[in-house]
Formats: sequence, structure tokens, C-alpha cells
Amino acid sequence: MTMTSFTPTSLEDLLSAMPRLNPNDRALIERAYRKAEAGHAGQTRKSGDPYFTHCVAVAAILTDLKLEAEAIAAGLLHDIVEDTPVTVDELREEFGVTVARLVEGVSKLKNIPVEANLNKDNTGRKKTVINKELEYIRRMFMHMGEDVRVMFIKLADRLHNMRTLGFMKPEKQLRIARETMDIFAPLANRLGIWQIKWELEDLSLRYIEPDTYRSIAARIDERRADRETYMQRIVEKLKAELAKQGIHNATVAGRPKHITSIYNKMKRKNIPFEQVFDVRAVRVILNEKHECYQALGIVHNLWKPIPREFDDYIGQPKDNHYQSLHTAVYDENGKTVEIQIRTWDMHHHAEYGIAAHWKYKEGVNGDSEYERRLNALRKMMEFGKDTNESDDDYMDALKTDFFQDRVYAVTPKGEVIDLPLGATPIDFAYHIHTDIGHRARGARVNGQLVKLNHKLRSGEQVEIQTTKSGGPSRDWLNAEAGYCVTNRAKEKIRYYFRKLDRDQHIASGRDIVERELDRLGLSNSITFQTLSELFEFPSVEDFFAAVGAGDITSNQISNRSLEEERRRQREIDIKTQPEKLFKPRNAPTPPTGAITGVGATGMLTRLATCCNPVPGDEIIGFVTRGRGVTIHRTSCGNIVNLSDHERERLIDVSWGGQTTTNRYLVCLDVVAYDRAGLARDVTAIVADERVNIHDLRVSRKGDISTLSLKLEVSEPRQVTRLISLIQQVNSVTDVYRPHGS
Ligand code: MN
Repeated sequence: MTMTSFTPTSLEDLLSAMPRLNPNDRALIERAYRKAEAGHAGQTRKSGDPYFTHCVAVAAILTDLKLEAEAIAAGLLHDIVEDTPVTVDELREEFGVTVARLVEGVSKLKNIPVEANLNKDNTGRKKTVINKELEYIRRMFMHMGEDVRVMFIKLADRLHNMRTLGFMKPEKQLRIARETMDIFAPLANRLGIWQIKWELEDLSLRYIEPDTYRSIAARIDERRADRETYMQRIVEKLKAELAKQGIHNATVAGRPKHITSIYNKMKRKNIPFEQVFDVRAVRVILNEKHECYQALGIVHNLWKPIPREFDDYIGQPKDNHYQSLHTAVYDENGKTVEIQIRTWDMHHHAEYGIAAHWKYKEGVNGDSEYERRLNALRKMMEFGKDTNESDDDYMDALKTDFFQDRVYAVTPKGEVIDLPLGATPIDFAYHIHTDIGHRARGARVNGQLVKLNHKLRSGEQVEIQTTKSGGPSRDWLNAEAGYCVTNRAKEKIRYYFRKLDRDQHIASGRDIVERELDRLGLSNSITFQTLSELFEFPSVEDFFAAVGAGDITSNQISNRSLEEERRRQREIDIKTQPEKLFKPRNAPTPPTGAITGVGATGMLTRLATCCNPVPGDEIIGFVTRGRGVTIHRTSCGNIVNLSDHERERLIDVSWGGQTTTNRYLVCLDVVAYDRAGLARDVTAIVADERVNIHDLRVSRKGDISTLSLKLEVSEPRQVTRLISLIQQVNSVTDVYRPHGS
């Protein structure tokens, strides 16, 4: 949506843009049109066009701002008092008090000499510059009576003059463009009328930096066809998806990039045109607020969202009441697409600012925020009318009223930085560049060293002293210390620490996970990747970061790891020893481990007491009469000395698949706050698990006890299970397998 740039060529043309006019308003506009047409008859613009075309163009812009009949009539008549014999009294008689007052207000704003930005290098001059800007705005207020619409008319007037600036002499062009950039664009911005702000800025830049402007404009033009095809595809796709999900009334459109915004971004971020321009921007406008969030979900489902690029300005509107959801995604080709989602209501706020709410001026509609702003403006204007006020008092009033929430500080190069009241050198530094903010260590204000939480005042020249490297201080985020007030600075600082913290969290998270797996003896069986998948993290880094940040405790890690290990063991069992899972309850269990042998399966076996075979020994079975099989070492004297007849009763046996893991010693260290009964509780658990304790030592250091257990276990699962059980014992802080066990 752009501000209309078409100039109506007839009354009908102009009226056609106002379809819902009532007969009285229509008549008022008709009379104003005729009056202005007659009054300016014979006058021409520098372009050679009849002067009256300018009046109609201004009225058309006001129509676009959705102002009502009186303001549009005043727009038609805005130059008539200045440039023709018609008087304000005459207007009052013919058009009423309001129209006359609006025209008078605009007329008095003529010909105020403003030398903006002539500053060079000394501090005093810079202060003067700001005061000149203030001075102009002050006069605007003084002369426009109590009606903010004067300002809208003045902005519309300036906009059309800027559009036709090409017909002026070059030196005049530059002066007017600077004035527009310095005063009128910020004023439009202040009133929240982005449409006028952008156009004024682009038109000004064209004269202030003609080469840059032309080069950017040419490059935009060059790539327009490509871009439009691409945007069309994105828009169609999003529209189709929204419709599929039940949102049929969405307006989806590519968002035009303003030359000044591209230029500022190139300058600010020091990146080339392509990088700024390559970012595609789409806007989705909906009827209902809840649809915005629904649409956001659909967008994030359709394309991959870029982390940390999402902002909810609906839930948390910006300082200037701007509302929208902002997000950025990667499309199928990996290109960045910025997406704004808002309702029509929010859209009108954003595009037309106060003007969009002018219809609520009587307060019937209860838009309290805009009421408040309008009332503040009105109050200030009334104050300005009081001729007894001295200039200084008035300036103060301006600073505390219209500028109540703004501070204008100056860079050493004379650039004016617009900051909210209470802003500090830190805010100032971040406003200039994120990196300057991060590295700020000191500040000079008007040459004097100040603290970094010094409250800046309008007109102060600020010089930031930076360190070569390093980052912000966490103190800066402490609200009571008052180091910064702007969201921009706070966000940059928070982001810095989020990123720094993330790096640190990843490192410490990795340590924790490593230690935990090591402790459980699972380092070789469970990978970081497996673990991060178990916790459903997209990457190992994200998983580490969450662990490091304390979002996932080491307890959760060990529980999940042990669970996984048990699951895997079961899987292995099913594959390799399915019978284990179905072993009958009453099956004879050999006293030590399983012994398998030809024909020995299921037979009662016992270890011979003459030779005491232990796992790993070569063994042989001797089938006894009625007592099953006795297992001997093959080297046992009783076997060696068997008669030939007895030898027929020997069978081959082996320790089976578990020969080497059947029984082995494992050390476990249990660290706990010392208490009575600790060792008893721990050993009871071990006994319950039918694990033999080979050795137990207790050492104390202060109130910390370490139980060093040497256990005889038959399978690794027993260890992991024991660790998790002992971990739950009261006062136990840590259970792990010491290295080397
Ligand atoms: Mn004019």
C-alpha cells in the first residue's frame, strides 16, 4: 500500500476517492474546490502546471490519510491566504471556524528559515542545530492552534512539494531535501504515519545523496522482474496453505523495500546491496487477532523458521504502539523470507499512525492510547498559545511534553541520535552500532567524563570510549543500576549473553554428560547423538546447551541412559538368547553360572569340590548316578585317574556363552553425606539384588563419606541397575565406577 501519488484532474476525480461522503461534506469540499480554483487562477508552479494542481494533490493525500471533509477542504485552501487576496476572515465566513483555523495554522508555518544540519565540528554549533529543529517544531505548534490536523496538512503539502522538487534550482533542492529529512520525516515518524515518512525519506535521499540513490534504484530496477516472479510464487504458496487451513480472507503481498531503508541498512550493518536486497519480505493481513497466531503456525510449518528471528509485537507492542508478528524463515531454496503478520486494524495503525485514529477524536470509541497521545498534543498546543510564556519556558514545556519521552543527543560527527528519556551513553552507543555498545567502557559528554549510567539531555554531545575487544557487563541489565533504558540496547546485551551463555552451557553440558555416562559405565555403548535424540533435541549442541543451562539434570540423564541400556540389553537378549526370556521359573539353576554341554541342557549340574573349577578353567562333566552332572577341571586328579569304563560317563561341557562375563569384580564408589545407617542401607540394596560384596571400605572427609564397594557381578546390567538404585538412597550424592575398575 502506498500513498496515492496520483493527482485528481477534476472535482469528480477527487470526490471519487471519498465514496461515503454525506451531502453536507460533499458540498463543503465542492465549495472549497471552486474557491481555490478561482483564487489560484492564472498562477503556475515551477513545473508550468496550474498552481491549483498542487492544492488538489494535497487534498488527495489527506483523503488517503482518511481525514474528514473539513481537513480536506482546508487542504484545498491551504495556500489561498498566503498567495491570494483571500483573508482568513473571509474563509471563516464561507467555510466555518475550523477550516479557517486550519488554513491559518498552515499559512503561518510558511517561510520559517531553518538551517538544519549546517553543523561542522564545534560543540556549540551542534547544540544550535538541535535548537533550530526544536524551534521549527515549536513554531509549528504555536501556529497550528489546537488542531493536530494542521500538521497533517503541512506534511501532505511537503510531500507533494518533494514529489515535484525536480523543478527547483539545485541549491534550493538540497536545502529543502535536508530540511525534509531532518524535520518532516521525523515528524511523520513521530506521528506514526509511516507511508509519508518513507516517501519523504526516499525523496530527500534522492537529492541529498543522488549517486547512492540512483545506484540503489537502478539495482532494484534491474532485478525487479526476477524478484517479482519469485515473490509471486511465495505469496501464492502461502495463500494456498492458509486457505487449506481455513484462513480464506488473508491478504498476502510482497512488501516493497524503501530505498532509504536499504541504504540505512547497508550503512548500519556495513553489508552490500545484494545482502540487504536478497531478503524477501512478505506481509500477511488478516481480519482477526487470533488468526495471526494461527497463520504464524502455518508459516512455521510451511518453511523452516530462523531461530531467534521471531518477535511478538502483538503481545508486546513497540514503544510507538506498533503491533505485528515478525518472523523469518528459509524457503525451499534456503533463501531468507521475512514475514509480518497483522490485522487490518494494526495495519492502519502502522501505516497512518495518529491519522488513522483521527475519527476517534471525540473519544467515543475509547481508543485510550491514542486518546492519551492526542490529548497530550492538544494540551501542549494550548500551552503554546499562551503569549505570556517566555521562549525558554516554552522550550522546556516542549521538551517535557511533546518530547516528554525523547532525548536528542549528538555524535562527534554531528549526527542527531533520537533516544527515549532517561537514555544513557550505553543506549547511545548501542544506537550507533551494536559493537560500539558491546565495547563501551566510558563516555565523554560535552568533553567531560561521565559515568555510563549518566542520563543524557537533549543537545549533549556524546563520545563513547571503547575497548579493543570484550563484551558488555551483566550489570547493564540490572534495572536499578540504570545503565540502559532502550529495548534495543537491552536486547543486544541479552542476545550477547544468551550466545555467550550458550557457548558456556554447551561446554559444561558436555562435561556433565561425559561424566554421567562414564560413571554409569555406558561411555562406550551410548553415544551423545543417541542421548540427544532420546531427549528429542535437534542437535547434540542443543542437548549439551540444555544440560549446561540446568534444564536437564544429571539424574534425568542417568535415568534415561539406564532405561536405554536396559532396552538395548533386552534387544540383544531377544536376538541371541531368546530362551532366557522364557526360562521356566523352576528350571534348575547351576550354583555358579550357566553350564552347557552336549546333552547337559536342563540337567542338574554342580561344581566338584575336589578341584573347585572357576569360570575360564577347562572343564568336563561327569554324569553321576542320580545327582546330575558334576563339573570338574579337566586336570583334576579324580578325572585323570578314571577307569576306562568310568570314562564313558564323561560328557563335554563348557562355560557357555557367558564364560568370561559370568562373574567379575566391579568397584563402585558411593559418595554421601555421612549419616548413621548409610552403609547398612547401601549394602542392603546390594544384597537384595543378589550381588555379593567382595569388599567394603569407608573413608570420611569432613561430613562426606565415600563407600568403596568391590562387588561380584554376573552381568553389566546389574551394575547399572545398582547405580540407579543406590543413587536413590537418602543422603547419597554420587555413585560411580572409579577409573580402572
Ligand atoms: Mn502548499
